[in-house]
Amino acid sequence: MGNNDNKSRNNFRYLKLSYNLTEDTPVHPDLTKIKITPKTQINEGADYNTSVITVENHSGTHVDAPAHFLKNGRPIFTYDPDELIFHKPIVLECLKRPDEIINPEDLAPLLRNFEDHDLDFDCVLIRTGFGKYREKDPEMYLTKNPGVAPETANYLRRKLPKLKCLAIDTVSMSRYGRMQEMIDLHQTAFRTQEDLGKPLLFVEDLNLRAIEQGMILDELMVIPWQVEGIDSAPCTVLVKIRL
Ligand SMILES: [Zn+2]
Repeated sequence: MGNNDNKSRNNFRYLKLSYNLTEDTPVHPDLTKIKITPKTQINEGADYNTSVITVENHSGTHVDAPAHFLKNGRPIFTYDPDELIFHKPIVLECLKRPDEIINPEDLAPLLRNFEDHDLDFDCVLIRTGFGKYREKDPEMYLTKNPGVAPETANYLRRKLPKLKCLAIDTVSMSRYGRMQEMIDLHQTAFRTQEDLGKPLLFVEDLNLRAIEQGMILDELMVIPWQVEGIDSAPCTVLVKIRL
């Protein structure tokens, strides 16, 4: 093996696409706010530092599994590593205004650009650009986010038979305050149906600000907290990019 092979193999790096959890992490008004409470502190005379953290499982960057909306759906802790590492992720740049819906017609022309790739993508990252409000205007980020239409989940599952994960740079995959739309979207994505490939996972509140147009993503890893008995979990997301 020559030097060139070595060089091309090493020309990549990893980016972290998940946000850190902090007490300022914007969470839905219905959720408990994150609390990080020092328990023993060296500063205060203790021999070691420890803290107690209180986090609802749908806080910050997290992965929704079918058990979130389906009685017999799989919870996230039953997923094997092989099911959480995606080898052909793509970013669909779909800039949206507050409270706008993402329809199949928005994504169809974007997917057309990738038609010479056999459409065998296993993970789709939708970049709406809404991440810019996360710190600047958390209220806007939480209550006016663009969201994916239920028909869009169906469209993507049909169009991309290998699709296993849908991720977005908004606090939720669905628009705020629309209960039926939210239920329909999650059920459409999570249900098991012979001709629709695998039920999807959703990654929400993902940080896509570092992803630039034309970047080639080689691999994406979703690493949820390993907690038994819960439907979904906060997660770390790493992506390998080619330089
Ligand atoms: Zn969730």
